[in-house]
Amino acid sequence: MSSHSPTRAREVMVVGGDVVVVWADGHESYYPGAELRRACTCAECKGEGHLFGRSTLPTLKPLVPEAFVPVAVGLVGNYGLQVTWGDGHDYGIYTLAELRAACPCDGCRAGAPPAP
Ligand SMILES: [Zn+2]
Ligand SMILES: [Zn+2]
Repeated sequence: MSSHSPTRAREVMVVGGDVVVVWADGHESYYPGAELRRACTCAECKGEGHLFGRSTLPTLKPLVPEAFVPVAVGLVGNYGLQVTWGDGHDYGIYTLAELRAACPCDGCRAGAPPAP
């Protein structure tokens, strides 16, 4: 562990259907849009599947294919990543610490420390 934090992002971008985060330590993470959208923690998405006692008129609209396509990404302070989706949804903020912990690359999945 050194003084710089690996959970700070140097750059974020959309590449194809993936959200890409370049971390402060140089590591790059590629998150498939579909998986990221499904993991959206905002109130609207988190409510999916819960009816809150109402049996009719669900307030949640079904997700269209565009909903899983990231169109823009931006940093929120030093801790968060906000994604704008193809359906206009942009409520969800993913914390960088969680994203780094969930990096799907082979090295991180294997539990190996990222190369310096
Ligand atoms: Zn959401
Ligand atoms: Zn990784």
